[in-house]
Amino acid sequence: MLTFLCPHCGAGTQNNLLWHNPQAYQEPFVLKVEGQREYRTNAVFQQFVYQCVVCTKATYFLRKNVPPIKQASSGPGNGMGIPSYVFRGHVAVVHQHPVPTVHVHPAVPEAVAGATDEAEKCYSIGAYNACAVMLRRAVDSLCQDRKAEGNDLYNRLKYLKDNQLITPDLWEWCEELRILGKSGAHPEWQDATREEAEYALRFLREILRYIYVNPHERGQRRLKENKALKDE
Ligand SMILES: [Zn+2]
Repeated sequence: MLTFLCPHCGAGTQNNLLWHNPQAYQEPFVLKVEGQREYRTNAVFQQFVYQCVVCTKATYFLRKNVPPIKQASSGPGNGMGIPSYVFRGHVAVVHQHPVPTVHVHPAVPEAVAGATDEAEKCYSIGAYNACAVMLRRAVDSLCQDRKAEGNDLYNRLKYLKDNQLITPDLWEWCEELRILGKSGAHPEWQDATREEAEYALRFLREILRYIYVNPHERGQRRLKENKALKDE
């Protein structure tokens, strides 16, 4: 049992362990401590499949587990019985499929969610120009949803900013997505890099959270509060 945000239905809920491979493969891990010798151990990769209790869909994780490295206990000045760590070890998620995104949230309109979903898919297969183009499309869909006026995306975003439908901060982020999307679409301009695409995707998630998800969640909370008042 593990609690995480289900990437399929968006519920922050419990997930049951369906399948586990405790040692999928290993990889040498070398720690170089300055002025000391090298420490070698193996990082173990483990696979997990969890199933959401709400929508019953499965999510895959690849986890990298680097065990702790302890100092040899027989050395001088180390006879106190206190384990002396050179490296405390760590566990990290290397890969997850699918990845949770705010666009699965029901408050995000279909056209915006569709373009965002496609951008995520392009990113996941390394198609960064295509990702940039789809991010731009998501921003344009957002403008349409907010009934922005203007003959091009630049003016539509400016309309949203001038009418205080987005904050100056969000406007700047949207502008970055617009410009990146343009370079993704034009072969004579520079290719979008992985870093740019990742950065831009993160921007878009924040934008969607601010514009759609947060107001929706605040609304839900108010509903609960009003209901609680009535019930008293
Ligand atoms: Zn789910």
